[in-house]
Amino acid sequence: MLNGLRNRAARFLQRPGTADLRPYLALLPAIADREQAIAALGDGELAAAARQAADAADDAMLCAAGRRAARRALGERPFDVQLVGTLAMLNGQVAEMATGEGKTLSGALAAAGYALRGRSVNVMSVNDYLARRDAEWMRPVYDLLGVTVGWIGQASTPADRRSAYAAQVTYGAVSEFGFDVLRDRLATTEAARIVTTPDVALIDEADSVLVDEALVPLVLAGAADAGQADHDTAQIARSLRPGRDYQVDEDGRSVHLTDQGTRAVEAALGGIDLYTNPHLATLTRLNVALYAEALLRRDVDYIVRDGRIHLVNASRGRVARLQRWPDGLHAAVEAKEGVAATETGEILDSITIQSLVKRYPTVCGMTGTAVAVGEQLREFYDLEIAVIPPNRPCVRTDQPDRLYASQTQKEKALADHAAAVHAEGRPVLIGTLDVAESERIAQRLTRQGLSCVVLNAKNDAEEAAIVAEAGTRGAVTVSTQMAGRGTDIRLGGAAGDDGQIAALGGLHVIGAGRHGSSRLDHQLRGRAGRQGDPGSSVFFASLQDELVTRHVPDARPPAAVGPDGRTEDAGSRETVDHAQRVAEGVSLEIHRNTWRYNKVIDVQRENVLAQRDRVLGTDVALRALARQSPDRFAALQGIAPDGVLEDAARQITLWHLDRAWADHLSYLADLREGIHLRALGRGLNPVDEFHKEAVRAFSGLLADVEERSVESFETVPVTADGADLAAAGLRRPTATWTYLVQDNPFGTDIDRALRTVAQAMRRLLPS
Ligand code: ADP
Ligand code: MG
Repeated sequence: MLNGLRNRAARFLQRPGTADLRPYLALLPAIADREQAIAALGDGELAAAARQAADAADDAMLCAAGRRAARRALGERPFDVQLVGTLAMLNGQVAEMATGEGKTLSGALAAAGYALRGRSVNVMSVNDYLARRDAEWMRPVYDLLGVTVGWIGQASTPADRRSAYAAQVTYGAVSEFGFDVLRDRLATTEAARIVTTPDVALIDEADSVLVDEALVPLVLAGAADAGQADHDTAQIARSLRPGRDYQVDEDGRSVHLTDQGTRAVEAALGGIDLYTNPHLATLTRLNVALYAEALLRRDVDYIVRDGRIHLVNASRGRVARLQRWPDGLHAAVEAKEGVAATETGEILDSITIQSLVKRYPTVCGMTGTAVAVGEQLREFYDLEIAVIPPNRPCVRTDQPDRLYASQTQKEKALADHAAAVHAEGRPVLIGTLDVAESERIAQRLTRQGLSCVVLNAKNDAEEAAIVAEAGTRGAVTVSTQMAGRGTDIRLGGAAGDDGQIAALGGLHVIGAGRHGSSRLDHQLRGRAGRQGDPGSSVFFASLQDELVTRHVPDARPPAAVGPDGRTEDAGSRETVDHAQRVAEGVSLEIHRNTWRYNKVIDVQRENVLAQRDRVLGTDVALRALARQSPDRFAALQGIAPDGVLEDAARQITLWHLDRAWADHLSYLADLREGIHLRALGRGLNPVDEFHKEAVRAFSGLLADVEERSVESFETVPVTADGADLAAAGLRRPTATWTYLVQDNPFGTDIDRALRTVAQAMRRLLPS
């Protein structure tokens, strides 16, 4: 048994650039021995043994105790491979373990191990539902190991959160951890803060969090006016005709006015010259409106529901709650659809998921698909991947792609294929790329008399319950990429399989199109063939798929096409593969580029946060003000008792610090927008220029804060009860809220710069 695992592991070790599993495998015999030795221990003794193991750095004993605890608490004895995964995570690596291998338990044992070593662990999940599910599911295991556990969710109160963070292991959605960090910025006393010092982050679905979602900024906004939906500009944009008035670039990521379109716009606006300086703001608004009109597609990029715009997350192909585009664009889409404008607010602070994760000195994680992003995990997070062999060898058959000339032909063939497999009694899971496609396919299936369940925009808990049944006999489930993720698809559903479904061939997965990365294709395939089950997968693709039209716009038509549109043309096959590689390259470039910009902001944020901590936790603010403004200090000492004066100084300084940071961020956002033209014009590197300017702008920030604080200190009304900040105009936001921004809707920075240049050129050159 053990030798079998070692042999299989040895084959996996061939993968270049991944972690060496041999030290972990070498511990397995010792783990087995110790498991025997502690078999008879009572519950309390088991916890003591685990603690001693951690103190003595005895990883074998730690795993043995974890295995015992899991067996006793859940009736599941962790397999060797699960413990190998645990050891990898305890060594700060990302464990790659296929779907259904039992990562929840592996990860919990790693989290418990860190906790027993005296560390505090945040387990990051993809959503609230999974965070709560996993914390409650694993709680009995933690209890037996003497480790405390808690969870946070969107609805948690500050008190709930504080007690969850006080636990040794805290589960939560990544975004919730981020929002708590941001909200803590508003704390005006030390006691009001919620988040504890970041220590260990253990990340589930690590590729999704660390790569796909890494650049999504989490935003904290404070009350300001409702957004200004610009209905007039939207009206003008709507009146323009594609081709005649504007052109969409080949990659579908940008749009520009033609000369005729420009003249139409200028006439509609009363005969202005759009490209002159006084109308720059109008031009920007018009471009945003045109972008909303021409490039953002209802039911693909967003849906309209309950009078609001809901974004569809491109990488997940499903509705992204709490997300919005940068404010101008969001308002433009609201105007396009004629729905009420939502509040925009002022951005008080924002942090990307990548920056959030980088605050933790120790990061580890787990996922079914990490190797394909190994380079990125190494480059951006210095993380190594441990490829853990499956408990039972995978016997899933992956069939070659079926390629069609048109999208309609593809969808028809897909429906016929699904019906044929369904007729055999096998469960079928169809993965689509976007909401519109899943609805089209479901309609087709329904017309053919097949009843199917569509998952795309429901709530996570409901989806999980449905996905759990997707492996039952005859089930047909249509799902976008992230729907029900984290839920195991067992053959036969909750009831299990008596062997019938396996005998039929198990779950059949059908991909409705290749994703923007082969890793996402692989994730979908991985839904079939879990834990050694039989299963199969096949992808349908067409030359009209967005992946192809966007990334290989000049693809040659296939040489030979059958009557049903199917083609075996090798060149066309290569086109699809090539399109995927281009898409992967583009994502990596975007990631790199954004990261380069964000680095300097992160350093500055940490600087400000450290200063904020000092102000909150010590009397530096009062001492600074007393030094700078000794007369006022002496006068106020007669009015306010000392503790009160210290707090007044603190509140004044915090207000100015937070104000200065919000202003700085908004300055940097503008700077980033404009830097390309300036840099390109002078032949400089935009990122370097951005860094230089950001550093220059930041260099005076703390001194400015002190200066403004002195001014306020000298004028703010102070009584024995404290300082009246509001009377001096130092008001804090009355309402705040948090959201995620869909990043980079306008394409890469380079795209944007080139587009602006191209627009200017078109004006200058005679056509
Ligand atoms: P993953 O996250 O790797 O896809 P899960 O953690 O959701 O997998 O676990 C999948 C299923 O396997 C769960 O139903 C879980 O109860 C079960 N499981 C995990 N470990 C074991 C084990 N050692 N023995 C039996 N069942 C297990
Ligand atoms: Mg999981």
